[in-house]
Amino acid sequence: MWEISDYRFAETPPDAVRMLREGPGRGVYLAGGTDLLLYPPHCDFVVDISRCGIDSIARTPDGDLFIGAATTLQNVASNPLVADFAGGQLSRVAAHCGNRPVRTTATIGGNLCNALPSADLAPILLALDATCFITDEDSQESLPLGEFFLAPRKTVLEDRLLVGLALPAESAERRCASWKLTRSAEDIALVQVAVSVLITEGVIRTVRIALGAVAPVPLRSRLAEEALVDFDMKVEKPETLLRLIADAAAIAAGEAEPIDDHRAGAEYRRDMVRVMTGRLLRRVLGVEASASEGENS
Ligand SMILES: Cc1cc2nc3c(=O)[nH]c(=O)nc-3n(C[C@H](O)[C@H](O)[C@H](O)COP(=O)(O)OP(=O)(O)OC[C@H]3O[C@@H](n4cnc5c(N)ncnc54)[C@H](O)[C@@H]3O)c2cc1C
Repeated sequence: MWEISDYRFAETPPDAVRMLREGPGRGVYLAGGTDLLLYPPHCDFVVDISRCGIDSIARTPDGDLFIGAATTLQNVASNPLVADFAGGQLSRVAAHCGNRPVRTTATIGGNLCNALPSADLAPILLALDATCFITDEDSQESLPLGEFFLAPRKTVLEDRLLVGLALPAESAERRCASWKLTRSAEDIALVQVAVSVLITEGVIRTVRIALGAVAPVPLRSRLAEEALVDFDMKVEKPETLLRLIADAAAIAAGEAEPIDDHRAGAEYRRDMVRVMTGRLLRRVLGVEASASEGENS
């Protein structure tokens, strides 16, 4: 039983921040409540943000895709603008998070603000260079999603509100793939990898490799990304690309900081980062390992 003395609805994002600060006592934001109701924190009141007007999805005049923090995962999964962006990979990830009843109330903002290392939406949003928009009572700040997570269950927010996320127009044309290794869609991920690449005139211009559930926070494997940037697919041989992909996958595994727990061992998780990163990169770059190389490549 969650014992709170007050349940309030905020009407605007600055309102929500003010309400949380004014008290009395300790308050907490509630979006879909799927996490909060499962693990109710000690607090005196709730500020419900579902009526703040931050639940829409739109393309901006610059072509960026803006997703309000209180948008449900179901709406992310079924929205045509999201389906049209980067091959629809974000839609697919949202469509496989938890189960349908959860997705109809759980929000994209709640998934990130919870700050679990295994948050399903984090790797794909990192791979698409998401920017977070944060509001205070009288000001707004934006920062890359990579700077949002500080530690398990800790973000940069403190008592501020996440109002939404923007994916840059440039990401819309990227080839993208992701993989959640888990026993079932409702289980916490054992390992997550998301990759995106931008290729123009046969040259790999942008590479993003993002990992989840293998470090205290979701993270990008920047050293692995660098291994593939500027590779000219018109000039170089496919075998050279396969070797670089194998190098990148091994570097990503090295950048992971997995732990042993009752779900999986750290070394298994690390090796799966290598295997999954290699497979996803080969898929988005359109090259296949030879049979002899198999999954060891
Ligand atoms: C059966 C079940 C299965 C699940 N399966 C998965 C799964 O497969 N993958 C997965 O990643 N998660 C899963 N979850 C966890 C959860 O549903 C998601 O993380 C969900 O997206 C949380 O969103 P919410 O709106 O319900 O968050 P809430 O519970 O409302 O909030 C979560 C936290 O974020 C804070 N918060 C929410 N919105 C904001 C905001 N805009 N600004 C500042 N702080 C905010 C809240 O104060 C709270 O601390 C599952 C949960 C259940 C119950």
